[in-house]
Amino acid sequence: TSYVFTFGGGASSADPRSRDKTVVGGKGANLAEMAGIGLPVPPGFTITTEECVRYLADGGEFADDLKADVAAALGHIERAVGKKFGDATDPLLVSVRSGARVSMPGMMDTVLNLGLNDATVQGLATSSGDARFAWDSYRRFIQMYSDVVLGIDHHLFEDALEIAKEDNGFYADVEMQAEHWQVLVTEYMQIVKGELGREFPQDPTEQLWGAIRAVFDSWDSDRAKVYRRLNDIPGDWGTAVNVQAMVFGNMGDTSATGVAFTRDPATGEKAYYGEWLVNAQGEDVVAGIRTPQYLTKASRERAGAKPLSMEEAMPEAFGELAAVFELLEKHYRDMQDIEFTVERGHLWMLQTRSGKRTAKAALKMAVEMVEEGLIDEPTAIRRVDPMALDQLLHPTLDPNATRDVLTKGLPASPGAASGAIVLDADTAQTLAERGEAVILVRVETSPEDIHGMHAARGILTARGGMTSHAAVVARGMGRPCVSGASALSIDMASRTLRIGNRELKEGDVLTLDGATGEVMAGHVKTIEPELVGDFGILMDWADRHRRMKVRTNAETPADCRTARLFGAEGIGLCRTEHMFFDDKRIAAVRQMILAEDEGGRRAALAKLLPEQRADFRAIFEVMAGLPVTIRLLDPPLHEFLPHGDEEFAELSDVIGIGVDTLKRRAAELHEFNPMLGHRGCRLGITFPEIYAMQVRAIFEAACDVAAQDGLAPLPEVMIPLVATRKELSILKALVDKEAEAVFAEKGRRVDYMVGTMIELPRAALMAGEIAEVGEFFSFGTNDLTQTTLGVSRDDAARFLQPYVEQGIFPRDPFVSLDIEGVGQLVELAAERGRATRPAIKLGICGEHGGDPASIAFCEKVGLDYVSASPFRVPIARLAAAQAAL
Ligand code: PEP
Ligand code: MG
Repeated sequence: TSYVFTFGGGASSADPRSRDKTVVGGKGANLAEMAGIGLPVPPGFTITTEECVRYLADGGEFADDLKADVAAALGHIERAVGKKFGDATDPLLVSVRSGARVSMPGMMDTVLNLGLNDATVQGLATSSGDARFAWDSYRRFIQMYSDVVLGIDHHLFEDALEIAKEDNGFYADVEMQAEHWQVLVTEYMQIVKGELGREFPQDPTEQLWGAIRAVFDSWDSDRAKVYRRLNDIPGDWGTAVNVQAMVFGNMGDTSATGVAFTRDPATGEKAYYGEWLVNAQGEDVVAGIRTPQYLTKASRERAGAKPLSMEEAMPEAFGELAAVFELLEKHYRDMQDIEFTVERGHLWMLQTRSGKRTAKAALKMAVEMVEEGLIDEPTAIRRVDPMALDQLLHPTLDPNATRDVLTKGLPASPGAASGAIVLDADTAQTLAERGEAVILVRVETSPEDIHGMHAARGILTARGGMTSHAAVVARGMGRPCVSGASALSIDMASRTLRIGNRELKEGDVLTLDGATGEVMAGHVKTIEPELVGDFGILMDWADRHRRMKVRTNAETPADCRTARLFGAEGIGLCRTEHMFFDDKRIAAVRQMILAEDEGGRRAALAKLLPEQRADFRAIFEVMAGLPVTIRLLDPPLHEFLPHGDEEFAELSDVIGIGVDTLKRRAAELHEFNPMLGHRGCRLGITFPEIYAMQVRAIFEAACDVAAQDGLAPLPEVMIPLVATRKELSILKALVDKEAEAVFAEKGRRVDYMVGTMIELPRAALMAGEIAEVGEFFSFGTNDLTQTTLGVSRDDAARFLQPYVEQGIFPRDPFVSLDIEGVGQLVELAAERGRATRPAIKLGICGEHGGDPASIAFCEKVGLDYVSASPFRVPIARLAAAQAAL
């Protein structure tokens, strides 16, 4: 196998490996590809990624064969260009650039004009007939090479240039003439000698190997390692090195350089988009030294800019470029991000790759390219990142607005919101009722804060992870939320808060970006979402190509309606305890929990029955004809107990039981580890009248709705936190008995199912037995993750971030399923459940049901549906389609 592949100059390698990204990197593969379809690509060669891996493994030694291969490939460039490397009369100059499989900031980027030295610069001046150009190129080379290869601080050179301009009374670089550059080059050489203790390398071959070494070494630089870790890029890929004949955009006014997109990467509009500069070299466009100009006449006019566009200034070269755009889009069937140079009127292509784009642009391009016949539906579906849809479903921050970032917490629920800081739920509600925009800021939230969370535009907490109460509830409501902002501390006494060294008080305005976790001072402008047009079209295609159904986690009619608008095909999880958070009901719920005996509980339950029935009725009406999984009560009890004297006094007033009695009872109920305590089906086993009330409410509501409009709801009664078959069989008998009683009273039946959550390792292991009783399983992967990892979902934020940073977990396991570990339990339970009951219905309702990577796993395991919070439903639809393709 060869370590080097040539391209361009009519002698591109025929080896398919020469176009394989894994071998020659993205840049190398695309250069070879462009040369292969006849585009004007300066001739060059690529050293493979394999050679980089070998070099690093050998402790930084080049292989002998590599030296020979590079020399031969350099010969290819020399013959194609008709110049010799190091020739003092007409030298060949090259660029050296890195190029991994995927573009990777953090690695050495580019060295231009390599091959210049004190002798060849004279030759370049003569052969080009432009001394200014030659000396400008030389000083650029010294500066770049010193920075990226020799490791000398680039500021030293920039400062020297500034001083030179000042001394000459110049404002812009273009005013510098050949003699000025020549003087600066002498200064640059002194800087190098001062910093390095030796001369700048004059031998072009030594320069070349220095640059190749720098590219290889940069693969293992700290910056590159950090980037790889954050983006899940394996460390053993290595980078390729691209060496290519230089073409010059800085050879006067018929030369130019630019970057361009074949479509607008921000809007997706089918219009060329880009920037260019006359008489400049590549880095000038991105470095911001000079303001780049518009590419097309239309975009220049739209912006009201004066300097001529490339279309106007260089119509011929622009025409060629436009033809290249068309060819590249047809060839790659995707929007391309391009670098080009015009050398004395002649167009050269330096790079092409699939361009990055906003979510909005991704949708528009995917849909339009199908209409244009460029791609098919499955390709269009694969093109859009499901998570990017988030940007479209919530108001987002105006990217052009300035931000005063105070701190960064966890991006717990997407969307952006601005409002006045409020430190408790009641005040939030009062102010919101007056029409004020508020942000609820709490150390952490609890069920009593629900009304305040609902009233607030956004929620900020100091503690709690991605599945904390605040995060789950906020996502369900579609409220932006930043959780676990540990730099935040609240002083309730003075009603102030401190973020880092900034102090704020209640009423001050904050802005949250729930998509990034940023917390900002003041108001930042937002833009509203649009769900029609391209979005709707792509979603229809996704629906046609997916196998799994998509349901939602919701318990209010409003959330159910939102979820249906977003395409939910049923409810996968109705958390009934969330229905009890309501201000009016909390007293009855507390009365029920604190009751001394069954009689006391029944009295409280009698108050809750009509409320529950009305809840279910409303949900069945909205979800007409669709399955609705209702989970019986699963409250970690501590979430419902009153806190503080005031709440006890209030409750005592409402239910007529003395404060002391209530406090004693609450103390009796105290649990050291409520998540593993008296919750889930354990409550149903010990206090069956609670579940009986809920089941009665479900079936009374179902019969009433069926009688009224014939739209039979499909209730699926779900038992939480089951560990054994016996628990489920006792509770299934309870459900069946109560249902039969209601059917007898109502004189009508509705179809229903009884099933269980699989959220404990024992339940997964014993799934075969449990499926003898349960008609469906819904994987509660929040608790299953908590119990399998032995990591508290409410306390994990503090250490999970460092865990992820150190690569202990690739991602937060409460966000993206730990497929290796927890996934095994899911797979095993699905297998064992199906072995007992082949038609068993299988779904997932943990937060992972809205995470694309987890959804792909669900497809692999063959689940029937995923259930996600309303705003994640479109994401799940698209991810499910991608998983099925
Ligand atoms: C779960 O545990 O995954 C689940 C969906 O239930 P909850 O989050 O309400 O505990
Ligand atoms: Mg659970």
